[in-house]
Amino acid sequence: MTTWIVTTEPTIAPLCQLAVGERHAVVVGDCEITGVDKVTRLAISGPAEAYAPQVVAAVAAQPGDIILVVNNSVGRVYAGALAAAFHAPMLTGVRNIASGAAVLGRYGGMTFQDVQFDGVAVGLVEPGDIPASAQSHISIQAHDAHAIAPYPATCESEETNAHADINLNAARRIIGVGRGFVAKEDIDLARQLAAVIEAEVGCTRPLVEGKGWMERDAYLGVSGHTVSPQLYIAVGISGQIHHTAGIDQSETIVAINNDETAAIFDIADYGLVGNLYEVLPKMTKAVRQHKNG
Ligand SMILES: Cc1cc2nc3c(=O)[nH]c(=O)nc-3n(C[C@H](O)[C@H](O)[C@H](O)COP(=O)(O)OP(=O)(O)OC[C@H]3O[C@@H](n4cnc5c(N)ncnc54)[C@H](O)[C@@H]3O)c2cc1C
Repeated sequence: MTTWIVTTEPTIAPLCQLAVGERHAVVVGDCEITGVDKVTRLAISGPAEAYAPQVVAAVAAQPGDIILVVNNSVGRVYAGALAAAFHAPMLTGVRNIASGAAVLGRYGGMTFQDVQFDGVAVGLVEPGDIPASAQSHISIQAHDAHAIAPYPATCESEETNAHADINLNAARRIIGVGRGFVAKEDIDLARQLAAVIEAEVGCTRPLVEGKGWMERDAYLGVSGHTVSPQLYIAVGISGQIHHTAGIDQSETIVAINNDETAAIFDIADYGLVGNLYEVLPKMTKAVRQHKNG
Protein backbone atom coordinates (compact mmCIF):
# COMPACT_ATOMS: atom_id res chain seq x y z
CA MET A 1 0.00 0.00 0.00
CA THR A 2 1.04 3.57 -0.60
CA THR A 3 -0.18 6.75 1.05
CA TRP A 4 0.40 10.06 -0.64
CA ILE A 5 0.84 13.09 1.60
CA VAL A 6 0.28 16.43 -0.10
CA THR A 7 1.57 19.39 1.85
CA THR A 8 2.65 23.00 1.75
CA GLU A 9 3.81 22.89 5.40
CA PRO A 10 6.53 21.02 7.32
CA THR A 11 4.22 20.00 10.19
CA ILE A 12 2.90 16.71 8.79
CA ALA A 13 3.22 14.47 11.88
CA PRO A 14 -0.57 13.75 12.09
CA LEU A 15 -0.63 12.78 8.40
CA CYS A 16 2.37 10.47 8.86
CA GLN A 17 0.63 8.84 11.83
CA LEU A 18 -2.44 8.07 9.69
CA ALA A 19 -0.46 6.92 6.64
CA VAL A 20 -0.47 3.23 5.75
CA GLY A 21 2.36 1.52 3.87
CA GLU A 22 4.95 3.57 2.02
CA ARG A 23 4.70 7.31 2.46
CA HIS A 24 5.15 9.34 -0.70
CA ALA A 25 4.91 13.10 -0.35
CA VAL A 26 4.17 15.90 -2.77
CA VAL A 27 5.64 19.07 -1.31
CA VAL A 28 4.42 22.27 -2.90
CA GLY A 29 6.91 25.05 -2.25
CA ASP A 30 10.22 24.93 -0.42
CA CYS A 31 9.42 23.60 3.06
CA GLU A 32 11.52 20.73 4.37
CA ILE A 33 9.71 17.64 5.63
CA THR A 34 10.75 14.44 7.37
CA GLY A 35 9.00 11.17 8.14
CA VAL A 36 8.29 10.04 4.57
CA ASP A 37 9.98 7.62 2.18
CA LYS A 38 9.89 9.68 -0.98
CA VAL A 39 9.39 13.34 -1.81
CA THR A 40 8.23 14.87 -5.07
CA ARG A 41 8.87 18.58 -4.86
CA LEU A 42 6.83 21.02 -6.95
CA ALA A 43 8.44 24.42 -7.28
CA ILE A 44 5.27 26.23 -8.21
CA SER A 45 3.75 29.40 -6.91
CA GLY A 46 0.57 31.20 -7.86
CA PRO A 47 -3.13 30.61 -7.33
CA ALA A 48 -3.70 27.07 -6.02
CA GLU A 49 -6.68 26.76 -8.37
CA ALA A 50 -4.42 27.28 -11.40
CA TYR A 51 -1.70 24.89 -10.32
CA ALA A 52 -3.83 22.03 -8.96
CA PRO A 53 -3.29 20.04 -12.23
CA GLN A 54 0.45 19.80 -11.43
CA VAL A 55 -0.33 18.31 -8.02
CA VAL A 56 -2.75 15.86 -9.59
CA ALA A 57 -0.15 14.87 -12.22
CA ALA A 58 2.52 14.28 -9.56
CA VAL A 59 0.24 11.89 -7.68
CA ALA A 60 -1.08 10.27 -10.89
CA ALA A 61 2.48 9.40 -11.92
CA GLN A 62 2.42 6.65 -9.27
CA PRO A 63 -1.13 6.45 -7.90
CA GLY A 64 -1.47 5.43 -4.27
CA ASP A 65 -4.30 3.94 -2.22
CA ILE A 66 -4.86 6.85 0.14
CA ILE A 67 -4.17 10.55 -0.39
CA LEU A 68 -3.86 12.73 2.71
CA VAL A 69 -3.79 16.49 2.23
CA VAL A 70 -2.87 19.13 4.80
CA ASN A 71 -6.03 21.00 5.74
CA ASN A 72 -5.28 24.62 4.99
CA SER A 73 -6.74 27.01 2.42
CA VAL A 74 -4.40 25.82 -0.36
CA GLY A 75 -4.65 22.15 0.65
CA ARG A 76 -8.43 22.24 0.37
CA VAL A 77 -8.11 23.32 -3.28
CA TYR A 78 -5.68 20.49 -4.04
CA ALA A 79 -7.86 17.96 -2.21
CA GLY A 80 -10.87 18.91 -4.31
CA ALA A 81 -8.88 18.62 -7.53
CA LEU A 82 -7.45 15.23 -6.50
CA ALA A 83 -10.85 13.88 -5.50
CA ALA A 84 -12.32 15.00 -8.83
CA ALA A 85 -9.41 13.57 -10.85
CA PHE A 86 -9.48 10.15 -9.15
CA HIS A 87 -13.29 10.01 -8.74
CA ALA A 88 -12.53 9.57 -5.06
CA PRO A 89 -14.54 10.54 -1.97
CA MET A 90 -13.16 13.48 0.00
CA LEU A 91 -13.11 12.78 3.73
CA THR A 92 -12.82 15.33 6.53
CA GLY A 93 -12.08 14.76 10.21
CA VAL A 94 -10.09 11.58 9.44
CA ARG A 95 -9.21 9.74 12.69
CA ASN A 96 -8.22 6.43 11.16
CA ILE A 97 -7.94 5.20 7.60
CA ALA A 98 -7.04 1.97 5.85
CA SER A 99 -7.79 0.35 2.52
CA GLY A 100 -11.51 0.84 1.85
CA ALA A 101 -12.50 2.10 5.32
CA ALA A 102 -12.11 5.17 7.50
CA VAL A 103 -13.23 6.51 10.86
CA LEU A 104 -14.20 10.16 10.79
CA GLY A 105 -14.64 12.50 13.76
CA ARG A 106 -17.94 14.39 13.72
CA TYR A 107 -19.31 17.32 15.75
CA GLY A 108 -15.83 18.36 16.80
CA GLY A 109 -14.83 14.80 17.66
CA MET A 110 -17.76 14.16 20.01
CA THR A 111 -18.91 11.26 17.86
CA PHE A 112 -17.45 9.04 15.14
CA GLN A 113 -18.64 7.84 11.77
CA ASP A 114 -17.45 4.66 10.01
CA VAL A 115 -17.31 5.00 6.23
CA GLN A 116 -16.46 2.55 3.46
CA PHE A 117 -15.14 3.42 0.03
CA ASP A 118 -13.96 1.65 -3.12
CA GLY A 119 -10.55 2.49 -4.52
CA VAL A 120 -8.74 5.69 -3.64
CA ALA A 121 -9.90 8.17 -0.98
CA VAL A 122 -8.72 11.72 -0.30
CA GLY A 123 -8.55 12.80 3.35
CA LEU A 124 -8.10 16.33 4.68
CA VAL A 125 -6.06 16.30 7.89
CA GLU A 126 -5.13 19.12 10.27
CA PRO A 127 -1.36 19.63 10.37
CA GLY A 128 0.27 19.28 13.78
CA ASP A 129 2.80 21.35 15.64
CA ILE A 130 5.48 18.66 15.79
CA PRO A 131 7.49 17.81 12.68
CA ALA A 132 7.45 14.13 11.76
CA SER A 133 10.42 12.16 13.05
CA ALA A 134 13.52 12.17 10.90
CA GLN A 135 14.21 9.29 8.53
CA SER A 136 17.64 8.17 7.53
CA HIS A 137 16.98 8.47 3.84
CA ILE A 138 14.36 10.26 1.81
CA SER A 139 14.43 9.78 -1.91
CA ILE A 140 13.83 13.08 -3.69
CA GLN A 141 12.17 12.85 -7.06
CA ALA A 142 12.33 15.62 -9.60
CA HIS A 143 9.03 16.53 -11.19
CA ASP A 144 8.73 18.88 -14.11
CA ALA A 145 5.76 20.86 -12.91
CA HIS A 146 5.96 23.14 -15.91
CA ALA A 147 5.33 20.28 -18.35
CA ILE A 148 1.62 20.63 -17.54
CA ALA A 149 -0.20 23.81 -18.39
CA PRO A 150 -1.91 25.50 -15.47
CA TYR A 151 -5.61 26.25 -15.65
CA PRO A 152 -6.06 29.68 -17.24
CA ALA A 153 -6.55 31.46 -13.91
CA THR A 154 -5.18 34.93 -13.46
CA CYS A 155 -4.74 36.99 -10.33
CA GLU A 156 -6.62 40.26 -10.85
CA SER A 157 -5.93 41.87 -7.49
CA GLU A 158 -3.90 41.21 -4.40
CA GLU A 159 -4.72 42.15 -0.84
CA THR A 160 -2.12 41.99 1.88
CA ASN A 161 -3.16 40.06 4.95
CA ALA A 162 -1.83 41.97 7.95
CA HIS A 163 -1.39 38.71 9.86
CA ALA A 164 -0.40 36.49 6.94
CA ASP A 165 2.41 34.98 8.97
CA ILE A 166 0.05 33.63 11.64
CA ASN A 167 0.50 29.88 12.04
CA LEU A 168 -1.69 28.64 14.85
CA ASN A 169 -0.99 24.99 14.08
CA ALA A 170 2.72 25.46 14.69
CA ALA A 171 2.32 27.69 17.77
CA ARG A 172 3.43 26.35 21.16
CA ARG A 173 1.41 29.01 22.98
CA ILE A 174 -1.83 30.63 21.88
CA ILE A 175 -3.92 33.38 23.44
CA GLY A 176 -7.54 33.10 22.29
CA VAL A 177 -9.64 36.26 22.40
CA GLY A 178 -13.43 36.41 22.45
CA ARG A 179 -16.38 38.73 22.68
CA GLY A 180 -15.31 39.86 26.13
CA PHE A 181 -13.26 42.47 24.24
CA VAL A 182 -15.44 45.46 23.51
CA ALA A 183 -13.33 47.09 20.79
CA LYS A 184 -10.94 45.84 18.11
CA GLU A 185 -8.08 47.99 19.46
CA ASP A 186 -8.43 46.34 22.87
CA ILE A 187 -7.06 43.09 21.40
CA ASP A 188 -3.68 44.82 21.67
CA LEU A 189 -3.83 43.96 25.38
CA ALA A 190 -3.70 40.28 24.37
CA ARG A 191 -1.03 40.98 21.73
CA GLN A 192 1.16 42.66 24.36
CA LEU A 193 0.96 39.58 26.58
CA ALA A 194 1.52 37.37 23.51
CA ALA A 195 4.69 39.29 22.68
CA VAL A 196 6.24 38.63 26.10
CA ILE A 197 5.28 34.96 26.31
CA GLU A 198 6.00 34.31 22.60
CA ALA A 199 2.45 33.30 21.73
CA GLU A 200 0.21 33.65 18.68
CA VAL A 201 -3.19 35.30 19.02
CA GLY A 202 -6.26 33.38 17.85
CA CYS A 203 -9.94 34.11 18.43
CA THR A 204 -13.50 32.85 18.49
CA ARG A 205 -15.60 32.83 15.34
CA PRO A 206 -17.73 35.91 16.12
CA LEU A 207 -14.61 38.08 16.10
CA VAL A 208 -14.01 37.06 12.48
CA GLU A 209 -17.42 36.51 10.97
CA GLY A 210 -19.51 38.88 13.05
CA LYS A 211 -17.22 41.75 13.91
CA GLY A 212 -14.55 41.33 11.22
CA TRP A 213 -11.82 42.23 13.73
CA MET A 214 -9.51 39.30 12.98
CA GLU A 215 -8.42 37.39 9.88
CA ARG A 216 -10.20 34.20 8.80
CA ASP A 217 -7.06 32.20 9.55
CA ALA A 218 -7.16 33.23 13.21
CA TYR A 219 -10.24 31.51 14.47
CA LEU A 220 -10.32 28.31 16.43
CA GLY A 221 -13.03 25.70 16.71
CA VAL A 222 -15.03 23.16 14.73
CA SER A 223 -15.25 25.41 11.70
CA GLY A 224 -11.84 27.01 12.26
CA HIS A 225 -8.48 25.57 13.30
CA THR A 226 -8.01 22.62 15.64
CA VAL A 227 -4.89 23.13 17.73
CA SER A 228 -3.05 21.42 20.57
CA PRO A 229 -0.45 23.88 21.88
CA GLN A 230 1.42 23.55 25.17
CA LEU A 231 -0.51 26.53 26.52
CA TYR A 232 -3.88 28.00 25.55
CA ILE A 233 -5.10 31.13 27.35
CA ALA A 234 -8.79 31.85 26.70
CA VAL A 235 -9.60 35.49 27.36
CA GLY A 236 -13.19 36.74 27.37
CA ILE A 237 -14.37 33.47 25.83
CA SER A 238 -17.51 31.76 27.16
CA GLY A 239 -16.50 28.20 26.22
CA GLN A 240 -19.16 27.05 23.76
CA ILE A 241 -18.54 23.55 22.36
CA HIS A 242 -18.02 24.89 18.83
CA HIS A 243 -14.95 26.73 20.13
CA THR A 244 -13.65 24.32 22.74
CA ALA A 245 -13.68 21.40 20.28
CA GLY A 246 -10.81 23.18 18.54
CA ILE A 247 -8.68 23.81 21.62
CA ASP A 248 -9.49 21.14 24.21
CA GLN A 249 -6.45 19.04 23.30
CA SER A 250 -4.14 21.83 24.51
CA GLU A 251 -1.74 20.62 27.20
CA THR A 252 -2.65 23.41 29.65
CA ILE A 253 -5.71 25.64 29.40
CA VAL A 254 -5.97 28.91 31.32
CA ALA A 255 -9.27 30.82 31.30
CA ILE A 256 -9.84 34.48 32.14
CA ASN A 257 -13.48 35.46 32.39
CA ASN A 258 -15.49 37.80 34.61
CA ASP A 259 -18.36 35.30 34.87
CA GLU A 260 -17.49 32.55 37.31
CA THR A 261 -20.18 30.31 35.80
CA ALA A 262 -18.69 30.49 32.26
CA ALA A 263 -18.40 27.02 30.67
CA ILE A 264 -14.76 27.64 29.75
CA PHE A 265 -13.85 27.05 33.42
CA ASP A 266 -15.12 23.45 33.09
CA ILE A 267 -12.23 22.57 30.77
CA ALA A 268 -9.63 24.96 32.20
CA ASP A 269 -6.65 23.75 34.24
CA TYR A 270 -6.35 27.22 35.75
CA GLY A 271 -9.21 29.73 35.99
CA LEU A 272 -9.02 33.41 36.73
CA VAL A 273 -12.33 35.15 37.50
CA GLY A 274 -11.78 38.79 36.67
CA ASN A 275 -12.06 41.66 34.26
CA LEU A 276 -9.71 41.06 31.33
CA TYR A 277 -9.03 44.81 31.13
CA GLU A 278 -7.45 44.61 34.57
CA VAL A 279 -5.99 41.11 34.40
CA LEU A 280 -4.13 41.27 31.06
CA PRO A 281 -2.00 44.39 31.77
CA LYS A 282 -1.09 42.94 35.17
CA MET A 283 -0.08 39.59 33.65
CA THR A 284 2.01 41.29 30.96
CA LYS A 285 3.74 43.46 33.56
CA ALA A 286 4.40 40.48 35.85
CA VAL A 287 5.91 38.36 33.04
CA ARG A 288 8.09 41.29 31.90
CA GLN A 289 9.35 41.84 35.45
CA HIS A 290 10.02 38.12 35.84
CA LYS A 291 11.96 38.03 32.56
CA ASN A 292 14.00 41.08 33.49
CA GLY A 293 14.93 39.39 36.76
C1 LIG B 1 -22.43 25.66 13.23
C2 LIG B 1 -21.63 26.56 14.14
C3 LIG B 1 -20.26 26.51 14.06
C4 LIG B 1 -19.49 27.31 14.91
N1 LIG B 1 -18.13 27.23 14.82
C5 LIG B 1 -17.40 27.95 15.67
C6 LIG B 1 -15.98 27.84 15.67
O1 LIG B 1 -15.37 27.10 14.90
N2 LIG B 1 -15.28 28.58 16.55
C7 LIG B 1 -15.89 29.44 17.45
O2 LIG B 1 -15.18 30.08 18.23
N3 LIG B 1 -17.22 29.56 17.46
C8 LIG B 1 -17.99 28.85 16.61
N4 LIG B 1 -19.33 28.99 16.63
C9 LIG B 1 -19.92 30.01 17.54
C10 LIG B 1 -20.00 29.46 18.98
O3 LIG B 1 -21.16 28.68 19.14
C11 LIG B 1 -20.05 30.61 20.00
O4 LIG B 1 -21.11 31.47 19.67
C12 LIG B 1 -18.76 31.43 20.05
O5 LIG B 1 -17.66 30.57 20.23
C13 LIG B 1 -18.83 32.39 21.24
O6 LIG B 1 -17.76 33.27 21.15
P1 LIG B 1 -17.24 34.03 22.45
O7 LIG B 1 -16.92 33.06 23.51
O8 LIG B 1 -16.16 34.95 21.98
O9 LIG B 1 -18.47 34.97 22.83
P2 LIG B 1 -19.51 34.87 24.01
O10 LIG B 1 -20.19 33.57 24.05
O11 LIG B 1 -20.37 36.09 23.88
O12 LIG B 1 -18.64 35.00 25.34
C14 LIG B 1 -17.98 36.16 25.74
C15 LIG B 1 -17.44 35.89 27.14
O13 LIG B 1 -16.68 37.01 27.56
C16 LIG B 1 -16.90 37.18 28.96
N5 LIG B 1 -16.56 38.59 29.25
C17 LIG B 1 -17.28 39.69 28.92
N6 LIG B 1 -16.65 40.80 29.36
C18 LIG B 1 -15.52 40.38 29.99
C19 LIG B 1 -14.44 41.05 30.64
N7 LIG B 1 -14.40 42.41 30.72
N8 LIG B 1 -13.45 40.34 31.18
C20 LIG B 1 -13.47 38.95 31.12
N9 LIG B 1 -14.46 38.27 30.49
C21 LIG B 1 -15.46 38.97 29.91
C22 LIG B 1 -18.36 36.83 29.17
O14 LIG B 1 -18.59 36.46 30.52
C23 LIG B 1 -18.53 35.67 28.20
O15 LIG B 1 -18.33 34.43 28.85
C24 LIG B 1 -20.12 28.20 15.81
C25 LIG B 1 -21.51 28.24 15.87
C26 LIG B 1 -22.26 27.43 15.05
C27 LIG B 1 -23.77 27.50 15.14
